[in-house]
Amino acid sequence: MPPDAELTPLDGRWTDWTPTRRPLDGRPTACRIRTGRRGPASLFSCRVEILMADQLAAGPGALPAHGRTGEGGPGSAGAPSALPAHGGIGEGGPGSAGAPYVYRRRELVEPDWRRFPGWRAVTAEQWRSPRWQRAQSIRNPRQLRLLLGGLLDDEIYDDLALDQQKFATMPLLIPPQMLNTVAPLVDPRGPGSLTEAFRADPVRRYMLPLASDRSPRWSSHPLAERDSLHEAQMWAVEGLTHRYPTKVLAELLSTCPQYCGLCTRMDLVGTSTPGTVKRRFEAKPADRYAAMIGYLRATPSVRDVVVSGGDVANLPWPRLESFVAELLAIDSVRDIRLASKALLTLPQHWLSAEVLSGLERLARTARERGVGLAVHTHANTAQTITPLAAEAARAVLATGVRDVRNQGVLLRGVNDTPQALLDLCFALQDEASVLPYYFYLCDMVPHSEHWRTPLHQAQRLQSALMGWLPGFATPRLVADVPDLGKRWVHQVADYDPVRGIASWAGDHRLPGGGDPAADPSRGYFSYDPIDTLPPEGREWWNRRQLDAHPGSSG
Ligand code: SF4
Repeated sequence: MPPDAELTPLDGRWTDWTPTRRPLDGRPTACRIRTGRRGPASLFSCRVEILMADQLAAGPGALPAHGRTGEGGPGSAGAPSALPAHGGIGEGGPGSAGAPYVYRRRELVEPDWRRFPGWRAVTAEQWRSPRWQRAQSIRNPRQLRLLLGGLLDDEIYDDLALDQQKFATMPLLIPPQMLNTVAPLVDPRGPGSLTEAFRADPVRRYMLPLASDRSPRWSSHPLAERDSLHEAQMWAVEGLTHRYPTKVLAELLSTCPQYCGLCTRMDLVGTSTPGTVKRRFEAKPADRYAAMIGYLRATPSVRDVVVSGGDVANLPWPRLESFVAELLAIDSVRDIRLASKALLTLPQHWLSAEVLSGLERLARTARERGVGLAVHTHANTAQTITPLAAEAARAVLATGVRDVRNQGVLLRGVNDTPQALLDLCFALQDEASVLPYYFYLCDMVPHSEHWRTPLHQAQRLQSALMGWLPGFATPRLVADVPDLGKRWVHQVADYDPVRGIASWAGDHRLPGGGDPAADPSRGYFSYDPIDTLPPEGREWWNRRQLDAHPGSSG
């Protein structure tokens, strides 16, 4: 058979997935074949994709979106969601393998934490304790090794440590509840047996980044910035970003119960890493909160307040309740959203009696005043929606808040296929009563290139999602354009996919970020990850960087 590179283009269709067995050990696997002509009419080519046994056993939620065989390169959509499948959707367009999707209701499963040696004796009561979860959170490779024993090869711990040393902009912090969703259905059978599944796992890819995950040439975009959305420039008072005409973001604190490698607020959130010394708020928390409330009382044009951080789950409840109660007393405030990824990653916090009873008090006041009090969370993969996470979301809803909504991030190798996004949206909507609301394109902070997706892929994904979910639960894919704000991916004004430069038009006055309507000549841009560009585009960025930094290697 000629080398793989000579096989394309193929004009045939993929066959259906055919269940088979791995000759080596008889474990179940599946394969599919695509054939086509090339060159002279007498020559035929074929391409074979093989689904690894662990992927098949782990089910659709555990299918890695990278490292698989097939035509799509990094960022392509191609993993099957159910086997065998017919019809369905594919992204179409470049890089797509035309993967099918089959809707079926999937029962949520709480992975058995006792599969990890360090948690073998942990009781259900301990597991449900927020205090135990916080105390047992993993903060470094050494603690991970203590937990997993020899289930991972040593190279993984070294890879993790190297990443923290060389690239990471966020410290390691992951609660047991979330770590337990990594490789959820893989039954470790001895030393090293978890290594492959751990490497490929989508939750691992953004919560426990490895140095080897990063693009060797372009780990950072040349135009990446620590505060990529320039939020601090839009602070009306310290930590209160006034970016849109009618809404503000109140950053009450700079910590979270978990740290995501890609965090947009990496400039401020979390403790420092070897490569990133964090900015700190200058004023005391009580003074900052008073200044925020004072600004909102004096600015009746603001009707919508996002109460965030960090993650509000790290604020002592009485403090959060008193801040929200003060917001509820301001006539002009009509919507309040509490932002907490921990609702799904540390559901034990939101299930505590103190939090639920306090939220009930706030929800009652909000209803009496006709204010929309909602909780916004952040899930990126279906496997993190476990029965306990769903229980927390529904308990929060039962307190009387108006809604619980999800704002995920579109991440390469994590959820960049229609299958992964739809699996997540259906798990949220059907099983946890959480509204799939947004998926943001990953922001251009340093060392985020391997997570980011090009705009054209996001557009295809948005199209692929249409028609599957109820309209009100169909998430919007949005780019957060620096100095401009959120834009639906199809709203792009001009787009050069070769250099990966998208330009966006402004059409409303931004209190802190200038006035796009008054200055139509000013450009607002977003950029595709360079390693996804065609050779011509990569070469253009190479030359540009060489011009800016003569002597650096191209
Ligand atoms: S939970 Fe949100 S604020 Fe905290 S690290 Fe993750 S993305 Fe950043």
